Amino acid sequence: RAKSEGRDCYRTFTPSMDETIKLRSEIEEDLRRALANGNELEVHYQAEVDAATGTIVGLEALVRWLHPTRGLMLPEQFIPIAEETGLISVLGEGVLAEACRVARNCPGLFIAVNLSAIQFRSSDLAVRLIAIARNAGCDPRQIELELTESVLLDEDDTARTTLIALREAGFRIALDDFGTGYSSLSYLREFKVDKIKIDRSFTQNLGHDAEAAAIVTSVVTLGHAMGLTVTAEGVESRAQMQLLAAAGCNELQGFLFSRALPENAIAALLASNAKLRDVA
Ligand code: C2E
Ligand code: MG
Ligand code: MG
Ligand code: MG
Repeated sequence: RAKSEGRDCYRTFTPSMDETIKLRSEIEEDLRRALANGNELEVHYQAEVDAATGTIVGLEALVRWLHPTRGLMLPEQFIPIAEETGLISVLGEGVLAEACRVARNCPGLFIAVNLSAIQFRSSDLAVRLIAIARNAGCDPRQIELELTESVLLDEDDTARTTLIALREAGFRIALDDFGTGYSSLSYLREFKVDKIKIDRSFTQNLGHDAEAAAIVTSVVTLGHAMGLTVTAEGVESRAQMQLLAAAGCNELQGFLFSRALPENAIAALLASNAKLRDVA
């Protein structure tokens, strides 16, 4: 079919689509190279604070790509390509290894690491992640693995089995971007998680629409009834912070407290913890 339509297809193939495909394959090639030998990929860390005290309780590891010609690239520019090409497994495991090393230098704090739904398709994911923590001399209890609801939508039992093994090894599990996925509530019953992170879209609408506040309050009530920690993402203003704390959120994360910072800025960030406490 494609062949008989070939000419027409080619004619509707606009330069901009052509450019997009070219860019994607260039990024794929560059990413392959960066993962194989470069020091272009970096992990940055963003504070997560206790909502009641403003004390930093954890750091989220967020990958950055310092591309030699394109400059700083954010995850949205290359994570989808890493997912389509399968490179996400190597990338994600590299981020975990870095996070485990940093965790050893930050006793008392958890380090959160994002996992892609694609990684959960490998039946040996738990074995591999446990080995990475062990090799880094890191207690898995210091590591929080963040996944999105799409992982829980998997038809077969691979993700379920993996999550059970990871929790048994001591990793904590957080549901990221909570409220944006499909069928959140039924999956919360089936899969044991430790934390839910309310998506920043709800935080950002706080104060603007009454529904956002109602959703936040409901998620906190639900989460607490299930024994979960509730974190709010994307906190940018004191007003949001106060509303979220009043709603009972346990932890807050957002630019109000800190952006994602390179590893060499962590010490100063932790030292400024007293200042953050004054903000709260
Ligand atoms: P996420 O896991 O929900 O991470 C939070 C994102 O929100 C980060 O964007 C962070 O910089 C941003 N953010 C934090 N506070 C605020 C705020 O107050 N306001 C606003 N507007 N944004 C805020 P970033 O670093 O660009 O990462 C985007 C997404 O890329 C992450 O969302 C995560 O889904 C994904 N990602 C990042 N690193 C990794 C990784 O190592 N592996 C995988 N699989 N995904 C990653
Ligand atoms: Mg996350
Ligand atoms: Mg999120
Ligand atoms: Mg996310």
